[in-house]
Amino acid sequence: MHPVDINVEAATPACGPAVTPDVSISKEVPVTKASPVESTVLTTYPEDSKLIPLNWGESSPEVRGPIVASRYKDGLLKHNAIGAHSGSYCVYHALAVGSHQLDPNYLADYTNSQPAFTIPEQKTWYNKEDIVAMDVFGHLTPFFYDEVSKQENVDVRPTIAITKAHMQLLEMKDAVENGRLQVDGNVVMNKNGDLNVSKVAIEPVWYLPGVAKRFGTTEDELRKALFEDTNGMYPELVTRPDIKVFLPPIGGCTAYIFGDPKNVSDPNKELTVRVHDECNGSDVFGSDICTCRPYLTYGIEEAVKGAQNGGAGVVIYFRKEGRALGEVTKYLVYNARKRGGDTAAEYFKRTECIAGVRDMRFQQLMPDVLKWLGISKIDRMISMSNMKYDAIVEQGIPILERVPIPDELIPPDSRVEIDAKINSGYFTKGKVMTTEELKNVKGREWHDVE
Ligand SMILES: [Zn+2]
Repeated sequence: MHPVDINVEAATPACGPAVTPDVSISKEVPVTKASPVESTVLTTYPEDSKLIPLNWGESSPEVRGPIVASRYKDGLLKHNAIGAHSGSYCVYHALAVGSHQLDPNYLADYTNSQPAFTIPEQKTWYNKEDIVAMDVFGHLTPFFYDEVSKQENVDVRPTIAITKAHMQLLEMKDAVENGRLQVDGNVVMNKNGDLNVSKVAIEPVWYLPGVAKRFGTTEDELRKALFEDTNGMYPELVTRPDIKVFLPPIGGCTAYIFGDPKNVSDPNKELTVRVHDECNGSDVFGSDICTCRPYLTYGIEEAVKGAQNGGAGVVIYFRKEGRALGEVTKYLVYNARKRGGDTAAEYFKRTECIAGVRDMRFQQLMPDVLKWLGISKIDRMISMSNMKYDAIVEQGIPILERVPIPDELIPPDSRVEIDAKINSGYFTKGKVMTTEELKNVKGREWHDVE
């Protein structure tokens, strides 16, 4: 490690304006306090690095070693992961520190925060290639690495948290009222359709060589793209090839488990799964332009039924808003669609015009959470996405049945999207329209008033 002090004075010209020195004897020389910028330590040089060994995919938590990214105390010298904890929320952490509301050396007290239920240990946890996008010990970190953390004077933070909750959704109340779901006092707790759920929040932790392999590229290419395309946000991506793990500033995912969590990894129990990518406009605010919330709640309903049949249901919710293009791009696409003739035939073209691609969700890393949960096969997959299907099957998890969204749940203005997707390869038990027929599937259009 070679800490470099940024010398602010060096930035001023060597021959700056001359100031006549004050030569009076008895005057005290004022002590200038170093500015925060002057005392900033860069970590871009590997010389003398004391990084704590990290052996991805090794046979035990001890041999694997902790993931250290926090700048707490000796973390600056010893960190073995690039980036910061908490995904995109790392910036808020920095704001709290920068505005003097949080001590950068604050150490969490994890009393009583341990997992609310057990995820059975899996073989996939000890393989370099099976799981490359999350820390398999992320939920046990404060307990496994407490000693190391004290000895090394570093902060080893959890990247996974496991809890329990009750869920109240109007759709589940409706499902009970209309006889689609039965109250069993366990999974469906009462006639309001309240659900018992076990849930796991997961932040992304990327093992760069493994991520590169999933994307069919080299680690160098991946590092360069991540460095350059984030405008140099993470210099260590190019200067510290000795650090193989990256905590990307993106959202993670949450696994919602219905039924006994132990059933999820039991190959003899029926498993229902929906993998859902975030769509705030529909999921939370009920927009009718897409099928997201209806498909999500249908997925929950089917997952609950799977649990009630003696198996388990899992809904994984990924923070990949607007096909991972973000909501601003998504709304721009909506405008272009609504003003440019909103037909299923033109659906993908509108996104491609603005974003350059039709989708940035890249499902290659998605199956990691399934493998971490010990899922070895999926009996019922509540999804029509060919990208999700292909990614899961490619990672060695067979899917026995694919379940499309029922027609009656498709909102009026979302036919354009669903028919375009079906035409492009989404699974359906119904009709696949021709390109010609897609021209006649129209959405609501706008007529701007001049
Ligand atoms: Zn949506």
